[in-house]
Amino acid sequence: MATILIVEDTPANMKLATIILENAGHAVLQAENAPDGIALARANMPGLILMDIQLPGMSGLEAIRILKDDPATRTIPVIALTAFAMKDEEEKIRASGCDGYLAKPFHYKMLLAEVDRLIGSKTGAKTGE
Ligand code: MN
Repeated sequence: MATILIVEDTPANMKLATIILENAGHAVLQAENAPDGIALARANMPGLILMDIQLPGMSGLEAIRILKDDPATRTIPVIALTAFAMKDEEEKIRASGCDGYLAKPFHYKMLLAEVDRLIGSKTGAKTGE
């Protein structure tokens, strides 16, 4: 189990991701915009961050770059979430330094598989099936 920070401005998406992760036994921190997400990441050092790319004001891509440029937060794995399915957008997202990537809408098994891939070995957590 891990503490996972979700940065997402759409309430329905936030609720869905929170339910999926809490049901898998994780603790969830929530932020609705990039600056709040960065502040929560620095203050709490979560085991993983889910970062929506399309956020009001500062984008998720910019937030990922800031987190990955900071020695204090660069080791936190980040999964980028986006509604864009376009190839050039995906390349831009991967270039930001994120560790994983999910296109919305995602199936809960895809989300948990990405979470396990990035933190499973660190925590030894089993989410079960
Ligand atoms: Mn959004």
